[in-house]
Amino acid sequence: MDVTVDGVAQSVTTGNLPQWSEVESLVEAAHRRCRGDTEGRVADYIPVLAQADPDWFAVSVAEVDGTVHSSGDVDVAFSIQSISKAFVYALVCEQLGHAAVRERIGVNNTGLPFNSVIAVELNNGHPMNPMVNAGAMAATALVPGRDPDEQWQFIHAGLSAFAGHALQVDEEVFLSESQTNQRNRAIARLLESYGRIALDPLAVVDVYTRQCSLLVTAADLAVMGATLADGGVNPVTGRRVVSAGVCRDTLAVLAATGAYERSGEWLFEIGLPGKSGVAGGLVTIAPGKAGIGTFSPPLDPAGNSVRGQRATAYLSRVLGLNIFASQAHTLAANRGTHHEH
Ligand code: GLU
Repeated sequence: MDVTVDGVAQSVTTGNLPQWSEVESLVEAAHRRCRGDTEGRVADYIPVLAQADPDWFAVSVAEVDGTVHSSGDVDVAFSIQSISKAFVYALVCEQLGHAAVRERIGVNNTGLPFNSVIAVELNNGHPMNPMVNAGAMAATALVPGRDPDEQWQFIHAGLSAFAGHALQVDEEVFLSESQTNQRNRAIARLLESYGRIALDPLAVVDVYTRQCSLLVTAADLAVMGATLADGGVNPVTGRRVVSAGVCRDTLAVLAATGAYERSGEWLFEIGLPGKSGVAGGLVTIAPGKAGIGTFSPPLDPAGNSVRGQRATAYLSRVLGLNIFASQAHTLAANRGTHHEH
C-alpha cells in the first residue's frame, strides 16, 4: 500500500496544556500516586543493572515552551538503553528519508521480544522495525561516518542535541553489557548473513552498546521527548535537531512498536507514542504539547517500567493527552469553544 503524501502541504494537530501551576501539581500527584507500587522486577540480564535501587522513581514533564516540571529522584542518572533506538532512528531518518528507512528497516511490530532471533528468521532477515534490537542495530549501521568512531561521534552529538547538553557514557554499564551481549552479536551476524548489514557486524554491536550506555535523567528524557513533540526543535535550547516530518514518522513507529510486544496495551491505556528501556526509563510524547520522562527500575515481563507506565497513564488522562480522545462537537459548542463560521 502506497499512501505517501509527498508534495502535499500538511497541517498539524495541536493543543494546549493546562496552566503552569496545574501541570506542576499533577506531576507531583503522579509521583505520589505511584510511588507505593511495588510490582515488577529490576532487569538483571545485564549484570550491573541489577544493582539499581527498586525505589528510585522520578517523573518529569517538559512543555514545548521549554518549561520543565519534575518530581522525585530526578537527579539519578541511568543508562538510556532501548530508548536510544527512537532517537538514533530519528537521526537516521533525517539522513536517509521516509521511503528508504521504511524499506530497509521497516515499521511493523514483530509481536516478539526485543531480542528475538526467531523474528529475524521468520521475516527472511528483514529487521521489521527500529525498536527491536535487529532493527536498532540495522539503524545504527546506517549512521553516517567513515568508521565506527565517526558513527559514534554522530550518535553522541545527535542524542546530546535532543537532550540539550553533552551526555556521558556509563563505562561500567558499557563494559557489563559488552561482556554479556552474545545474543546481540548473534543477531548482527544473522543480519549480515542476510545482507542487511554492510559493515563489520561486531563493530556495529559495539556502537549500539555504547549508545545504550548513555546516561540520562527523567528530565533529560522529558526534554528529548519534547523535542519530538515540538516538530524537531529542542524547546530548551531552541536548536533544531531533526525535521518536523522526521518527528511525525518516528512517533508513528513508536506508537506501533515502542513498548515491545505490549505496544497495543500501551496504546490502549495511554494513547500516546512512547519508548521504554530496560534500565527503567520511559519517554512519552504528546505531539505539539510535551514530552514525559519517567524513571523507575522495576519492569513488567516485556521490559517496561511498571511505575513509569502507571504515572504516564495518569498524566495522559488528567492532562488530556490521549491522541484518540475526542468529545462531541455539540458538547464543545455548548461550552463556547466552537469556531465562528
Ligand atoms: N542494550 C539493551 C539490549 O540490547 C537494550 C534493551 C532494552 O532496553 O530493551 O539488550
